Amino acid sequence: MIRPGPSGADLLDKLRALSARRAAFEADGACPGDTTIDEVLSASEVVIRGRRTLMLGSNNYLGLTFHPEVRAAAREAVDRYGVGTTGSRAANGTLAIHTALERALAAPFGKRTAIIFTTGYQANLSVIAGLCRAGDVLLVDADSHASIFDAARLSGATTLAFHHNSPEDLARKLARLPSGRRDRLVVVEGVYSVRGDAAPLKEIVAACHEHGAYLMVDEAHSFGAYGARGLGRAESEGILADTDFVVGTFSKALGGVGGFCVSDRSELEGLRFLARSYVFTASGSPATIASVHAALRVIARDPALRARLWANTRRLRAGLEAGGCALEPVESPIVSIPVGDEAAAIALWQRLLEEGIYVNIMVPPACPPDACLLRASGSAAHTPGEIDRAATVIARVVRKTDVTAAD
Ligand code: PMP
Repeated sequence: MIRPGPSGADLLDKLRALSARRAAFEADGACPGDTTIDEVLSASEVVIRGRRTLMLGSNNYLGLTFHPEVRAAAREAVDRYGVGTTGSRAANGTLAIHTALERALAAPFGKRTAIIFTTGYQANLSVIAGLCRAGDVLLVDADSHASIFDAARLSGATTLAFHHNSPEDLARKLARLPSGRRDRLVVVEGVYSVRGDAAPLKEIVAACHEHGAYLMVDEAHSFGAYGARGLGRAESEGILADTDFVVGTFSKALGGVGGFCVSDRSELEGLRFLARSYVFTASGSPATIASVHAALRVIARDPALRARLWANTRRLRAGLEAGGCALEPVESPIVSIPVGDEAAAIALWQRLLEEGIYVNIMVPPACPPDACLLRASGSAAHTPGEIDRAATVIARVVRKTDVTAAD
C-alpha cells in the first residue's frame, strides 16, 4: 500500500504557494526571477516594460552576442546545417563543426582532450557524475553553483563541502580520508558566481597534490576575463598544468549556449558513452556551435576586449563607491552590493528597473536570508557613459533606501 507522504497534502500545493507569491508582484511591479525582455537593442541595452534599460545583469562579459563576426558565423551555420541537431551525438551523429569546436577549445589550453556539452550545467553533471560514483569522495566548496551540488547528488559519491575558499579546511578534510587512493575529486570555481570572489587556486592545488586528489576548476565566470589568453583563472594563476579538468560555459563571455571540459586525461573521452547528460540529450545547435567557435577566434585575437571589460568593471566599482555604496571587497567582473533582507533587495531591484537599470538579484536559496545582494556585471560592451549613468543611478537609489550606504 502506498502511504501518504509526510505532508499528506496535494503535490501541487507547493506550486500553488509560489503562484500566490507571484500574483502579489503582478499587481505591484516586476517579479524577480521572471522578467520579460521585450527587445534586445544591443549587448548593453534592452527594452523591459516599454522602457529602454541598461543591462548590467547579462554575464555578457565581452559583449560578443552582437559581434558582427559571431553573428555572421551563426547565420551561415543555419544556412548550411539547418536550425537544430534534433538529437544527441550518440544517437544522431556528430557534426564536423562539433569536433572542430572541441579541437579549438583544447588547443589554447594545451590539453589533449575537449568535450562540449549542451549547457554548462550539463558539463558539470557529466564530468562530476561521470567521474564519481558511490564509494568515491567529492569535495566541493560550500558556495558552489547549484549544478555542482546537483552533480554531486546525481553521482551518489560521498560529498564533503569545505568552507568557502578555505584550502585549510579542504586539506583537513582530505587528510581524514584513507591515504594512497585516487578516488577523490576536488571541485572549485575560478570566480564564484554570487559574490564574485576568486578561489585561492595555488593553495588548493597544493592540498590536492599532497593528498592525491584530482582537481576540477569551473571557469564559468572567469573564462574570457582572466589570463594572458583569456582562458580563466587557472591560466592567470599559472596552475593550468595542475588542473585535471577545466570546465566552462559558453553562456557568458562566449555569448552562446553550451559548456565544455578540457583535460590532459584522455580517459575523459569515456564520458561520451558514460555521462547520461551527454548521451541522452540533444547536442548544441549549429548556430550556437559556429557562433562559439567564432567567439573563441575573437577572444584569441582581440585582448582589447578583456582590457575594456576590466576598465568598465573598475569604473563601475569606483563610481558606486564614490556614490556611497558598500561593495563586496573583491575585484572581479561581478560587482555585488549587499542589501540586507529579501524585502529590501526586491524593493531596490524594482526601483532600479523603474529607473532603467537591470541588475541581478540574489535572494534565498542563492544566499542566506539576511545577506541578499544586488549583482551587477560589467561588460566590454558598455560605454564609459553607460557605466557612469548606471553607477550614479544605483548609488542614488541605494542611498535613498538607506540599506548599504557607507556610514
Ligand atoms: N557553473 C557556474 C559556476 C555557473 O555560474 C553557471 C551558470 N550561472 C553554470 C555552471 C551553468 O552554466 P550554463 O548556464 O551554461 O548552464
